[in-house]
Amino acid sequence: MTFFQFMNKFSTEEAVMDYFINIRYGETVVCPHCGKITKVYRRKDAPKLFICANCDNHFSIFKNTIFEKSSTDLRKWFYAVHLFLNSKKGISGLQLQREIGVTYKTAWRMLKQIRSAMGNTDMTKAFESMVEIDETYIGGKPRKMNGKTEPLKRGRGTKKTPVVGVKERSSSHVFARVALPNAEGKKLTGKQLFNILDSVCKKDATVLTDDFTGYNFMNHKNTNKNNYYRISVNHSESIYSLGNGLHTNGIESFWALLKRGILGIYHHVSVKYLQEYVNEFCFRQNNGSSSFDALLRQGVFAA
Ligand SMILES: [Zn+2]
Repeated sequence: MTFFQFMNKFSTEEAVMDYFINIRYGETVVCPHCGKITKVYRRKDAPKLFICANCDNHFSIFKNTIFEKSSTDLRKWFYAVHLFLNSKKGISGLQLQREIGVTYKTAWRMLKQIRSAMGNTDMTKAFESMVEIDETYIGGKPRKMNGKTEPLKRGRGTKKTPVVGVKERSSSHVFARVALPNAEGKKLTGKQLFNILDSVCKKDATVLTDDFTGYNFMNHKNTNKNNYYRISVNHSESIYSLGNGLHTNGIESFWALLKRGILGIYHHVSVKYLQEYVNEFCFRQNNGSSSFDALLRQGVFAA
């Protein structure tokens, strides 16, 4: 959608609100005061508010959403979401500030809110058939330790943060977790890897891995509690290139995208915010052309 098409579709704040109301409530609105499915009226003087026809109380259509308590024009919000979703590698606060004409602080806050919506999804036991699992290490900014900034090391001895990713073959969906706490610079354990598989995969899933020893827990009945069927792809013997479909290239290309995004747009991401950025790239991966509406839906949080 071009800027012109966007402005035609969302020419007024009311148009934005109507769109959002449809996403959030659909045909039926449940009043948070009386708990009844109810007829509601928009207040003319305050169009962000609904009045319940049953109990006469009013409530905000943006309560418990990423838009709550923001005084920024809702068209700017929607355009920020649009821009964010349509740039493959993400968008920086400075870019957003320039594009929509808000202060840097506001742009930064908006991006933070949009990112929190991207992470607001439940993928518990979402994957069931064949998955790839792989880990990567992402170098963060030097952290402050005891008030002093650590010198930035290069290469060997660099403290990098492990991120574990699981990709389901049939859906191409990706689930990825920063493996913390205190895992910087350390090898991942079988228990950490099991916990991540356990959170997103059903039992008996087929799991494609490389030959990293951390995955050996799947080779033993007593540690392989979910009966995963491991297929180890031995990179050193180039089995992945034989064309038999047994490879972890899917999750590896996801890492490439994530790393390019972090280096190219965000330059560095501190460990503290790394999961949010990982969520952002998972969201892009997992929501194709319907990502705009998905983002709005995920922008509503449980009360
Ligand atoms: Zn009511």
